[in-house]
Amino acid sequence: MVLAELGRKITDALKSLNNATIINEDVLNNLLKEICSALIQSDVNIRLVKQLRENVLATIDFDEMAGGLNKRRMIQSTVFRELVKLVDPGVNPFVPVKGRPNVIMFVGLQGSGKTTTCTKLAYYYMRKGWKTCLVCADTFRAGAFDQVRQNCTKARIPFYGSYTEVDPVVIALDGVEKFKKENFEIIIIDTSGRHKQEDSLFEEMLQISNVCKPDNIIFVMDASIGQACESQARAFKDKVDVGSVIVTKLDGHAKGGGALSAVAATKSPIIFIGTGEHIDNFEEFKTKPFISKLLGMGDIEGLIEKVNDLNMKDNEALIEKLKHGHFTLRDMYEQFQNVRKMGPMSQIMSMLPGFNSDILTKGGEQESMARLKRLMTIMDSMTDRELDSLDGNKLFTKEPGRMIRVARGAGVMEVEVKELLNQYAKFSQMVKKMGGMKGLFKGGDMSKNVNQMQMTQLNQHMAKMMDPRVLQHMGGLKGLESMMKQLQQGGGGPLGKGLFN
Ligand code: GDP
Ligand code: MG
Repeated sequence: MVLAELGRKITDALKSLNNATIINEDVLNNLLKEICSALIQSDVNIRLVKQLRENVLATIDFDEMAGGLNKRRMIQSTVFRELVKLVDPGVNPFVPVKGRPNVIMFVGLQGSGKTTTCTKLAYYYMRKGWKTCLVCADTFRAGAFDQVRQNCTKARIPFYGSYTEVDPVVIALDGVEKFKKENFEIIIIDTSGRHKQEDSLFEEMLQISNVCKPDNIIFVMDASIGQACESQARAFKDKVDVGSVIVTKLDGHAKGGGALSAVAATKSPIIFIGTGEHIDNFEEFKTKPFISKLLGMGDIEGLIEKVNDLNMKDNEALIEKLKHGHFTLRDMYEQFQNVRKMGPMSQIMSMLPGFNSDILTKGGEQESMARLKRLMTIMDSMTDRELDSLDGNKLFTKEPGRMIRVARGAGVMEVEVKELLNQYAKFSQMVKKMGGMKGLFKGGDMSKNVNQMQMTQLNQHMAKMMDPRVLQHMGGLKGLESMMKQLQQGGGGPLGKGLFN
């Protein structure tokens, strides 16, 4: 299971709590079963998964808790905390000091991404204004120095290496001493790897470490090796004093769970992750934001899926209705429910390129969500006939007594019911227009069937039918348009290129 999918599974499981009428031990056990099986399928070590489960169970005491809301929140935040613990060894990473040499040595197996990552890290510090350089102490792999030379030349990073010297220990020490004399602040040593964990590799690693006395040793781990990460991390940690970890290849189809939770074995924090071959595919790693993003990712994937679903077979009933321009109050209710299920809007929005998170201020988002909830409460007081009528609005205007009844049932003013019905009228008008667009619902992919003009038209309709306050929070019509585009382009699957790159 790739990370995005893991995030979605866990998010779904946590959200299912919101729909449960009672929260008891059975519900918790089921929730944990789902989360744990997702974690295991993502290659997280079984022992750690078991630990997580036990920790949650030990924290949640049903006898002591009162009130459904409280229980939900308790469970959700406990699970979140435990997930953070999985990737957080509770150790602070090494922080380089300005104005003096900081020697950073890389270790890891061949092919794990050391050389690539050395360049990425050097580039990262260089852009932040540190005097940065790279030493190539890999004499094992043919062409290793050429690779460093090429990378560094492209990124304009000063480098040191040798075509003639065969002892990596000598090269490392020469390079470090030279750069120290030249007052470099970040001196990165790239070392060789072997295909397996071999004594000769560890021997060489130890020697370089002993003579160069690095301030930090970074262990580079390839996420795609899954469960094997843990024993590998442990083997390296046993030999040298690994201070931090960088997990590479977290793009593509790596399951990632194994690598991320291997921090438990190294007891050293992950400081960066590599998400591609390019020098920019490098992200700082912080546990809490990572887990939030992971769970938010579930949302965004879900969001894309929802949009795709709307075009696809799963929603045939709705599509059939839309084709005929039919849209009931119940359909609207269900759409609102979907929006609410998708979770905090700003979290989703902030992940879409072109949106920055302050478009949706926190207060604004809460307001929008609260408003949606209020509208749904009103609809909860409607009868089936009202909800399923093809022209619910008419039903209410013909028999105004219904309005009074619903307002009373929902505990709101009549004028609010009226506003809701207005909103619904706009929605259903829009659906009628969509139903009239030829070929819109043919085949699966809506974006392929709509030409640019129709798309613009559709967006304008969308904008009209949305609550202006919500629309405003989303950056106005322009924002909505670009969001629609992003969604259509980005629907390519986990970490779809259009979304994150
Ligand atoms: P080394 O043997 O440990 O020095 O590994 P290299 O730096 O030479 O990398 C081995 C391969 O992995 C190269 O083809 C890199 O382009 C690739 N690579 C490194 N990091 C990443 C990453 O984060 N994502 C992807 N997709 N490829 C990576
Ligand atoms: Mg290398």
